[in-house]
Order: sequence, then structure tokens, then C-alpha cells
Amino acid sequence: MGSEITRRKIIQQGAFALTALPFPLTSITKLNLMAENKNFDVIIIGGSYAGLSAAMALGRSLRNVLIIDSGLPCNKQTPHSHNFITQDGEQPAAIAQKAKAQVLQYDTVKFHSDLAVSGKKTESGFEITTQSGDNFRADKLVFATGVKDTMPDIKGFAECWGISVIHCPYCHGYEFKSRKTGIMANGERAFHLASLVNNLTDKITILTSGKADFNTEQGAKLHQHNIRIVETKVSEIEHRNGHIKNVVFDNGSKIDFDAVYAGIPFVQHSDIPVALGCELTEQGHLKTDMLQKTTVRGIFACGDNSSMMRSVAYAVATGNIAGSMVNKELVEERF
Ligand SMILES: Cc1cc2nc3c(=O)[nH]c(=O)nc-3n(C[C@H](O)[C@H](O)[C@H](O)COP(=O)(O)OP(=O)(O)OC[C@H]3O[C@@H](n4cnc5c(N)ncnc54)[C@H](O)[C@@H]3O)c2cc1C
Repeated sequence: MGSEITRRKIIQQGAFALTALPFPLTSITKLNLMAENKNFDVIIIGGSYAGLSAAMALGRSLRNVLIIDSGLPCNKQTPHSHNFITQDGEQPAAIAQKAKAQVLQYDTVKFHSDLAVSGKKTESGFEITTQSGDNFRADKLVFATGVKDTMPDIKGFAECWGISVIHCPYCHGYEFKSRKTGIMANGERAFHLASLVNNLTDKITILTSGKADFNTEQGAKLHQHNIRIVETKVSEIEHRNGHIKNVVFDNGSKIDFDAVYAGIPFVQHSDIPVALGCELTEQGHLKTDMLQKTTVRGIFACGDNSSMMRSVAYAVATGNIAGSMVNKELVEERF
């Protein structure tokens, strides 16, 4: 398929007769891409699920695309990813690897392992500078940069993140069904998680690490479902290789758990979009419309950086929309 695209390109360009080619078409493509240019139709920053999905739509539209990726997806510590059809239970990196291999079949898509450190507006589009000192230019940008979760200062928490300290019942709740479960949160967030998780297990304790913040109605509901509330501050998570043994409290007491849900804060993984003028929502996501356009013309965003719906499926879906909408915008400008 890749060489078919090159073949068509060469025929269109009338460069030389196909019968006279001295070496295979795939080599021509590689030579071209290496020798040339740092100018692309689109630069995608972030080459995980959302970015690769956008790249596929653009590669299939014969757009010259550069993906810049620093190789740090948010789910890197999770042994198995769930709830994405055809890949349920697969290792997160294996899903991305398969996606990358398929996307790079399209000759007009290039992958560059590097960290994008800054961006600026140019007369015709944008320029991105990377940590290793490269400058790349493109008419359009897609940010698929994800978010960075901020680990609380609790010993053992970071080591368990994604293994037995989990963020989402849809991703990992089934694996801990009927098991002894903690919910490390307070107020609305804790109540919401408790109501969701209650469908998976009836052994729930909410760990508020301070005075519980529930209204009378919420308190009554939690009581009705035998959901305990512990207000003592959590100080440590004892674990073996990320698998929780006990939650340890400030006063030295412990409770054993199989899993703990935690709602923790996040920051944007890249500050380039904001530096370029993209607005954030109150929750800290990049503001986009239904077509994944940010508030700056020519810049699109997809995946975790622009939505609270954190899942591989959603990242892939919004990446696909972003890819096609970037292509549409290019068509409208150039046709
Ligand atoms: C612990 C955990 C477990 C999860 N488990 C599941 C699960 O089982 N099932 C499920 O559906 N979802 C799961 N999720 C959610 C899912 O992982 C995310 O929704 C998904 O990874 C989002 O994809 P993304 O492409 O938007 O961002 P990410 O996958 O986070 O990728 C962002 C990419 O952008 C790159 N990047 C960022 N800034 C720059 C820069 N300046 N220059 C270059 N590259 C940059 C990063 O290195 C990274 O490769 C989990 C999330 C977490 C945190």
C-alpha cells in the first residue's frame, strides 16, 4: 500500500518512467524523506493513541505529516489495557506499537522521537522546535499530547498507580469485582465513584483523609449501601510490586485492600498549545469544538488533553476526527 502511494505520486509528478527505476520504490521514499525538508502539511505532537489515529486519517489523505513523540503515555505503568474492542487485555505499549506500524505504512507519515519544546506562529503556519534542536514547520498543528497525573505525596502511591491504585472503573474495575476496595477521594467525586463501583463490589470504604464532605442525602445513600467512611489521613500504601497490601493511616492503623480508586489532579503534558494562545476549560483541558478545533485557527487537539473522557477508545475516536478535520481545512484552503 505504501509503495502504491509513492507510485502514484511519482506518476503524478512525472519524475521519471517507472520502468527505468534503478532501485525499489520504498527506498526512494526513505531517501526523499531523509534528504528533504522540515516542512510538512501537518505536525502532530504526541504519537500515542490520539496522535497515531489522527496520523492515519491524514496519511490516508496523502498529507505530509510529522509525528513528534517523547514516548511517555500516561498509562505506561498499567500492565493491561481494557475496554477497547479488539484489544481488550492487551499491553498498552503493544496497542500503540501495532498502531504505529500500521500508520507508518503510509509513506507520507514520518515519526520523530523527540520532545517538542516550543512553538511559534509563522506567516504561513507554525514552527515547532524540539529538544534536540530541530525546527519543523507546518500549516497545521495537532496536539495529542495527553495529560500528566500529579501523584500525591503518599509513599507507595506512584508505584501502585495503574496496577492496583486505579482511576477508572471502566478500565480496571472488572478485574477487581467483588474485591475489597478503597476510594481515596471526598465529596462529589467520592460519591460518584462509590455509586459506580458499588455495581462491581459491595466491599467499599471511602478514605477521605480529612472531614467527610457529603450532604445528608449522600450520607444516607452511602449508609444504605454499607459503604464505610474513614476520615483518618492516609500516609502510605504498602504494596508488593505495585499490588496493594494495606493502606496505612497517620495514626499507625492499617486496612487491607485489593484495590484503591483515586481521583488525582493533572496538568497538561505540553504547555506549547497555551503558549500559542489556545484556551483551557475550567477543568484544565484544551478547549475544542465538536470537530476538535481549538480556539486558535489551524490548531487542533485530541485525546486526554482536551477531554475528561479518558480512554483509549475516546483518544482514537477524537484523533480520527481531528485528522479528518485538519484534512478538510487543508482542502478548503487549497482546492
Ligand atoms: C494508569 C492509567 C491506566 C489506564 N488504563 C486504561 C485502560 O485500561 N483502558 C482505557 O481505555 N484507557 C485507560 N487509560 C486512559 C488512557 O490511557 C488514555 O485515555 C490514553 O492514553 C489517552 O491517549 P492520548 O494519546 O491522548 O495520550 P497519551 O497516551 O498520554 O499520550 C500522549 C503522548 O504525547 C507525548 N507528548 C506529550 N508532550 C509532548 C511533547 N511536548 N513533545 C512530544 N511528545 C509529547 C507523550 O510522550 C505521549 O506519548 C488509563 C490511564 C491511566 C493514567
